[in-house]
Amino acid sequence: PPAKPTDFIREKVAADQQVNKYGGRVATRFPPEPNGYLHIGHAKSICLNFGIAQDFNGVCHLRMDDTNPTTEDPEYVAAIQRDVRWLGFDWGENMFYASDYYEKLYELAEKLITLGRAYVCDLSEDQMAEYRGTVGQPGKESPYRNRTVEENLDRFRRMRKGEFPEGSCTLRGKIDMTSPNMKMRDPPLYRIKHAHHYRTGDAWCIYPLYDFAHCLSDSIERITHSICTLEFESARELYDWVVQATEVPWVPKQTEFARLNLNYTVMSKRKLLQLVNEGHVHGWDDPRMPTLAGMRRRGYTPEAIRDFCQRVGVARNLSTVDVALLEHTVREDLNTRSPRVLAVLRPLKVTIENWPAGEVEELDGPYWPHDVPKEGSRKIPFSGQLYIDRDDFMENPPKDFYRLAPGRSVRLRHGYIVTCTQVLKDAAGEVTELVCTYDPATRGGMAPKGKKIDGTIQWVSAAHAVDAEVRLYDRLFAVEVPGASGADFKTDLNPQSLTTVTAKVEPSLATAAVGDRFQFERLGFFYVDLDSKAGALVFNRTVSLKDSWAK
Ligand code: ATP
Ligand code: MG
Ligand code: MG
Repeated sequence: PPAKPTDFIREKVAADQQVNKYGGRVATRFPPEPNGYLHIGHAKSICLNFGIAQDFNGVCHLRMDDTNPTTEDPEYVAAIQRDVRWLGFDWGENMFYASDYYEKLYELAEKLITLGRAYVCDLSEDQMAEYRGTVGQPGKESPYRNRTVEENLDRFRRMRKGEFPEGSCTLRGKIDMTSPNMKMRDPPLYRIKHAHHYRTGDAWCIYPLYDFAHCLSDSIERITHSICTLEFESARELYDWVVQATEVPWVPKQTEFARLNLNYTVMSKRKLLQLVNEGHVHGWDDPRMPTLAGMRRRGYTPEAIRDFCQRVGVARNLSTVDVALLEHTVREDLNTRSPRVLAVLRPLKVTIENWPAGEVEELDGPYWPHDVPKEGSRKIPFSGQLYIDRDDFMENPPKDFYRLAPGRSVRLRHGYIVTCTQVLKDAAGEVTELVCTYDPATRGGMAPKGKKIDGTIQWVSAAHAVDAEVRLYDRLFAVEVPGASGADFKTDLNPQSLTTVTAKVEPSLATAAVGDRFQFERLGFFYVDLDSKAGALVFNRTVSLKDSWAK
């Protein structure tokens, strides 16, 4: 066990260990429904559940909570496994499927009926809601509540055989229609669904509901601490009831914590699925998505995501985390992993008029800044024809513009100080090229005595630069809480969330491979995308360099 528990759930596990509550066993589970890809919220739950197992020398099960035949798909199972592994966790032998328990769960449902604790109810969904009543008002008992055990067993068996249409009846727990906890007012446990299931096929036409399946799956797997988000707080009483009423030998306990909410982000899988299906993004792994697959493709590392989850912590009070904290964590992580290179996103041609014709000089460019304890450098060709970024030139700049302008000087990174002498334009008045002079005494960027040069900009040699597609991402949503206005959340999509440019990058990047990371100086951290090929490079901007996170 950890020397010092770091959150209230670990404290609880440690206390249970002290009194030998589960005979020394610590078993958690991460139970996604395979109806979508995992997102950063799930990462919090994964880090917590697998983290506790690691800390207490226990196990964490990966369980597909697959009791809803109409939304689940094996593609999602594979994606979930891939993403949990990528995040750095290993379930070993402990891969489970709730759908493997259907027969066992059915037996337990019959047992409940036999014990007089469940009945088949023919009320429609609307009627059931009406009978349930409202908070503060007692509900009404269903007219089917006092069916005999024999009749209930007969009807439940016929439900299983497929004799009834969907919605015509349900199996309900016989609990208390006057309970102040609405969840306890004879909750439905099984419903009819004539639907094909991705694992059990057409073997079943009745499916257990979450409140019945989840706690019993926990019991079957001998889970000790069943950790879930706060929305399930009111379901805990029912969780305990089902475990007790079915008289299963293993009694797991549910503990709730606050889910992760991020501003500028939606995390409901239903909404994420809409974004994918309606083409607002290019797939579940679109780098703008808050999915683990999207973050991986964007260039986030599993270490950064785990660090973020650690910083967010585990608490019981709901809060919204600033997405800038995530970006800040990613920057810190990438700082020591990303060699610095030169790239120009919106190329503007520069001719150095006093450069010896045809000459190419090899400059030495260290990959790492002084505060990163790594070594290595590459050669960068310098010539009389360069590109700089359009943003680094202004024809009529304000005083505090420390980049290039007519008559002004700037330092070219690792190279020389140049001064702009002429601006060439096309017929429409658009700047097409700059003419500059260079000062041969400033090689490596040394300013001549008495001259102060404040600006340093990136550049590439025109004849040597390599073209690359660069995908610049901004937040997927333009507002902090998508949908808060009452309109559909998609009306808050940021129309500028993706900008694609054809950049010029330094020649050393010609051999960049999928998955490589770089910092393009002054522009951000970049990741070589899956679509990238030799001769057709594609970079994603993982995150810009500017940090808006207030420490
Ligand atoms: P969604 O709203 O995205 O559909 P869900 O809870 O229905 O989420 P599941 O696949 O059932 O999705 O979630 C698996 C586990 O991940 C659950 O234990 C759930 O509590 C946890 N989880 C889901 N979203 C978050 C979140 N935002 N923060 C922390 N844990 C989460
Ligand atoms: Mg769920
Ligand atoms: Mg859901």
